[in-house]
Amino acid sequence: MMRITFLGTSHGVPEPNRNCSCALLEVADKRYLIDAGVDPTPLLINRGLTPCDISAIFITHAHGDHTNGLISFCDLCSWHFKEADPQIFLPDMSQLDALKAWISHTCGGLRESLRFSQVHEGKLFDDGVIGVEAIRTQHMPNAYAYRIKGGGKKVLFSGDMKGGDGPITDYARFAADDDIDLAIVEGVHFDPMLYLEPLRNHPPKQLCINHYSWRSLENCCRLKNALKDEIPVTLATDGLTIELR
Ligand SMILES: [Zn+2]
Ligand SMILES: [Zn+2]
Repeated sequence: MMRITFLGTSHGVPEPNRNCSCALLEVADKRYLIDAGVDPTPLLINRGLTPCDISAIFITHAHGDHTNGLISFCDLCSWHFKEADPQIFLPDMSQLDALKAWISHTCGGLRESLRFSQVHEGKLFDDGVIGVEAIRTQHMPNAYAYRIKGGGKKVLFSGDMKGGDGPITDYARFAADDDIDLAIVEGVHFDPMLYLEPLRNHPPKQLCINHYSWRSLENCCRLKNALKDEIPVTLATDGLTIELR
């Protein structure tokens, strides 16, 4: 079984009741985060969890709506949650220097035992519970989608994709030749209706559109309607949990 809870589903700008990107992934007794565009700590605490419960954090790319929450998270892990030991995967390691510089002025400095690793394409992580593969997208240099296997399920997090035609140039490539149980895809940098053909060519068992804006919402709904007899489509909202059994 795999459980995904959306802690932040907005695009570059928060919207009412929608934080920037962050998702909690739970498999067996392990927990992971994908992106930290909002500080995950209070959202974890609201669920009876703390940073100490997180085994790894996978950042898709350096934009602030996917990373700004790391500052608060790592600050608290440096002086309060000293038992927290997540492996934090950064696509752009220069953000670690920025993090160190910032946190040196907010508390006693970034705790040295916090573990950071550079994301690279291909097999990235395997703790015996989940296996994570990173696939480059064309959103910006060092931007990645993640294909994650665990609990007998397979989920795809698209991250942000190429503006204009991302569903054709990015999604079609990294969704190909794979039986995906749940594809979580972004919906803001292009017309979401462009997903129609790639999805029909490589249909996941379920689709969840994330990271959409009020401007793209109408065409997200058109896509959902167009696929209604083929693929179940959900629009992600903060607090939504999807369980794959
Ligand atoms: Zn984004
Ligand atoms: Zn971005």
